[in-house]
Amino acid sequence: SANARAFPIVIVGHVDHGKSTLVGRLLHDTDSLPDGKLDQLRSVSEKRGLEFEWSFLLDALQVERDQGITVDVTQIWFHTAQRRYVIIDAPGHKEFLKNMVTGASRAHGAVLVVDAKLGVSEQTRRHAYLLHLLGVAQVAVAVNKMDLVDHDQGRFVDVEREITAYLGEIGIRPRAVVPVSARHGDNIDRRSGVMDWYRGPTITQALDGFARRPSPIDAALRLPVQDVYRLDDRRVIVGRIESGRVSVGDTVRLSPTGRRAQVAGIEDWNRNQPRQTAGAGESVALTLDEDVFAVRGHLLTAPEAAPAESRAVAVRVFWFDEEPLRAGRRMRARYGTADVDVTVAAIERVIDVETLASGPATQVDRNAVAEIVLRSTQPLYLDKFADNPRAGRGVLTSDYRVVGGFIVERPLHGAGRN
Ligand code: GDP
Repeated sequence: SANARAFPIVIVGHVDHGKSTLVGRLLHDTDSLPDGKLDQLRSVSEKRGLEFEWSFLLDALQVERDQGITVDVTQIWFHTAQRRYVIIDAPGHKEFLKNMVTGASRAHGAVLVVDAKLGVSEQTRRHAYLLHLLGVAQVAVAVNKMDLVDHDQGRFVDVEREITAYLGEIGIRPRAVVPVSARHGDNIDRRSGVMDWYRGPTITQALDGFARRPSPIDAALRLPVQDVYRLDDRRVIVGRIESGRVSVGDTVRLSPTGRRAQVAGIEDWNRNQPRQTAGAGESVALTLDEDVFAVRGHLLTAPEAAPAESRAVAVRVFWFDEEPLRAGRRMRARYGTADVDVTVAAIERVIDVETLASGPATQVDRNAVAEIVLRSTQPLYLDKFADNPRAGRGVLTSDYRVVGGFIVERPLHGAGRN
């Protein structure tokens, strides 16, 4: 669909620095709003005696969508002359950080919003660090509320220096640092008339300069098994292809059993159509030529490019839970369709996102990032996040609550066997 091809971005930054206002403005200034929406909201605000806020637009769109769909992620679309964009997970959403950690590697770019008056905060740095952690390297910085600092170039340059220095330390070179006023629509899509000292791109121009990430279709085949059916004497394996492609006649391998079989047929699971080949993002039903054992949680790959199987992995964890994480803690790790028992074997180091200093620690507090070792009694078959972002990440759950997100640094061979 057209929506599937929209360019996915996230809008991050400290609460109240103006993310929602920026989104409202983006929608309006690019003509992406449904007809009459703005007038309707303006008159509603007036009747209620409220001063109109651009963020109302976002709230209104969110309510409409929340009534229609059950998923927990709100997506907002807009378009420039160049292309369509989808903002994955709207700012201010209560599960925003969690969703970001569990899903935002799918963002191809980000806008980081910083209040010109208040400057770079701890939360600004935390969000920037998450972008780095999740491999979102294309970032445009919006230095917002320039109207509150008299559109002063000196103040802008100070904030620009501070954020650029931090981003530089985590390996992100921003594509643009743009002085904006989201409230007044300066340098969002329309070039500001009050900041002629600025010669760089507007926010939409900066976004239009972002490149797409290479398609996961060119990566190794990763098909987490969702369901298995028997059809006569054959097995039908159903799942969504996370990366790579598969064709009729291919030999495939299942982790952790190591069993191989040939693909006899492929059906598009949603359209009920036979296919010769299918790729990343598609949900398929594969018929295998042999009755090989498989269950939900197994992983189907090409035999020559299966992930390392191990009982321990070194991961970077982003911890959400109130209760600090300590060595020995037992949880469950979910990745792909797998859901396995894990134990925290060691906390290697905790990273202070503010100073970027890291050091040994005995516990990981809420909203902190740490390098830890997870061990399992069951085999783990995860990729390094750097090799395959879609197959190298997961979440940690405890009593069915998501308590952390992780990306895989490396599988640890021979470690923790029992
Ligand atoms: P969020 O929490 O980051 O989504 O921030 P909001 O978009 O809700 O904005 C927080 C407050 O800042 C609201 O009262 C906005 O009206 C105000 N605000 C946002 N952008 C601007 C701006 O460019 N100039 C001024 N003066 N206020 C702004």
